[in-house]
Amino acid sequence: MTGGADLNIEIPMKILSDEKGYLDRQCPNENCLFEFKISMQDWEDKVSDEEVHCPLCGQIAPSDSWYTYEQLDAMQEIATNWARNYMLGEIDKMFGSLARSTRNNKYIKITYKRNRPVTFVNNPIGAKEEWNLDITCEKCGTRYSVIGSAYFCPCCGYNSASNVFDNSMNTITKMVQSLDEMKASLTEQFDMDTAETMCRSMLENSFGQVVSAFQKFAQCRFKELSGVEKRVNDFQMVDRGSKYFFDETGSSYETFLSSDEINRMKLYFQRRHIIEHNTGIVDQQYIDKSSDTDYSVGQRIVVKIDEALDLIKIIKKLSSWLLTLT
Ligand SMILES: [Zn+2]
Ligand SMILES: [Zn+2]
Repeated sequence: MTGGADLNIEIPMKILSDEKGYLDRQCPNENCLFEFKISMQDWEDKVSDEEVHCPLCGQIAPSDSWYTYEQLDAMQEIATNWARNYMLGEIDKMFGSLARSTRNNKYIKITYKRNRPVTFVNNPIGAKEEWNLDITCEKCGTRYSVIGSAYFCPCCGYNSASNVFDNSMNTITKMVQSLDEMKASLTEQFDMDTAETMCRSMLENSFGQVVSAFQKFAQCRFKELSGVEKRVNDFQMVDRGSKYFFDETGSSYETFLSSDEINRMKLYFQRRHIIEHNTGIVDQQYIDKSSDTDYSVGQRIVVKIDEALDLIKIIKKLSSWLLTLT
């Protein structure tokens, strides 16, 4: 009977952390392949073998599927070296014993001389340089690090509404603040008209981005406080959102913002609405709802950088107050 003999080989490999003690990981989802870092200690102590969550796309996969391409390449190289070393060793043994067994044979003479000793060097697999943005999960305490932003904790999958909100607000703020620079470089790359149109559109979109980030944040915050899940769009109406929080906690938006700030917030929310739903062209409904005296029906809303920054300031102020509610 000849059966295939399984050769079960285990090659010890060591993957190193970076200077901060973080381990490189990569999402196995082909559409994502997001790279992140996680504290080596938390990876060993906290993360389960069955379920690891991708911080960006939320994919769940067993813990042995998160090697980065670099780590897989390095492991492949180690395995190849090991195999080459193993084969040379076997050849050595084979010809060595053949040479020995034929030593006294007068018809056949086999001599075998090793060319050079092969040594198997198993270097630890290194890590990429450490990154700046460190996150600690509010729920399970797992420490991880990403470039850009993250939505899920790799250990427990917790989606931190306030983290996501902070990240979006910072990104939008930087985008709005750098619009003049962007316009200059876009003018060089394209032309003045294209640059102007692109920057105007980014500025107009910033209203929508701020409002939708706030709506999502307010919805999550309200759910944390009341256990009730309202529709995201309920927080598009300033008065309605404010009333929800008032009924639940006794504090409304008016508790934290001046009436002037509330009025500007309402105006900006209405402008966002007309930008998104009527390409910015003022209609009677807008005039009725916003009491905006700067525009008449048929005109187009013009968004200014100062207004976008003012909206961001009001929203940041309100949201940090909402976080203090209990
Ligand atoms: Zn992913
Ligand atoms: Zn967590």
